[in-house]
Amino acid sequence: MRSNPKIVPLINLIWKSVIVTQNIHTNVFFLIVVQYRLKNRTILMKKATKKEINTLKSALLERYSDAVTELSYANAYELVIAVALSAQCTDKRVNLITPALFEAYPNPEALANADINDVKSLIQSCSFFNNKAINLIAMAKRVVDVYHGEVPLDEKELVTLAGVGQKTAHVVLIEYTQANLMAVDTHVFRVSHRLGLSDDLSAIATEATLVKKFKTNLHQLHQGLVLFGRYICTAKNPKCDSECFLREFCKSKDGFKPR
Ligand code: SF4
Repeated sequence: MRSNPKIVPLINLIWKSVIVTQNIHTNVFFLIVVQYRLKNRTILMKKATKKEINTLKSALLERYSDAVTELSYANAYELVIAVALSAQCTDKRVNLITPALFEAYPNPEALANADINDVKSLIQSCSFFNNKAINLIAMAKRVVDVYHGEVPLDEKELVTLAGVGQKTAHVVLIEYTQANLMAVDTHVFRVSHRLGLSDDLSAIATEATLVKKFKTNLHQLHQGLVLFGRYICTAKNPKCDSECFLREFCKSKDGFKPR
């Protein structure tokens, strides 16, 4: 049976976006709107103006001046593990898992020599725990073998560790070194689109757009956008009337409406 050539790209887009944002309902709706807009060249979502971006940036920086990750960690080794586990898993869940994991394997050497089944059982309440356990041990082995037991704090080196992609590397560097980097998770992706900061279809493209538009204070803006998306501009039932301090910049009303 031949596939409908118009449907296949849409399904691919939805699938890629679901992987990024983990919210199929929001994304199916959002991407249908995007597809409709692309095909009909109809502007359904306005873009933020330069003036709005500057004001919005200041408001985020003021509100989230001291924002940090909600993941619990004590050092770079623990942070890399926590961030890797948080992929498609909530920070709350990761924080429930990591105390026992860090106690059992307090350093890369211990984790490098761990029994895979022991690691799996410690992280089994986390999504994709089988692959994550394999990657954690492989990551620790490389840290021991190549980096003398110290997690490298360089993006090019970080991404050579098992299970560490660009987003994980950026989140680690943003949190641990306050690097001027952006990382786009499900919250940053959703909020960026609702505020008219990006109409990109992927997290990577959204990241590039945010870097271009904000330029500076990216680490702080990342932390702020995550918290804003997690607690105020939530996927379902965003707190538009009760808590949103960016309401005047919201562009989502004519595109995908807040539910
Ligand atoms: S008004 Fe609602 S949808 Fe718009 S940015 Fe604020 S919380 Fe999000």
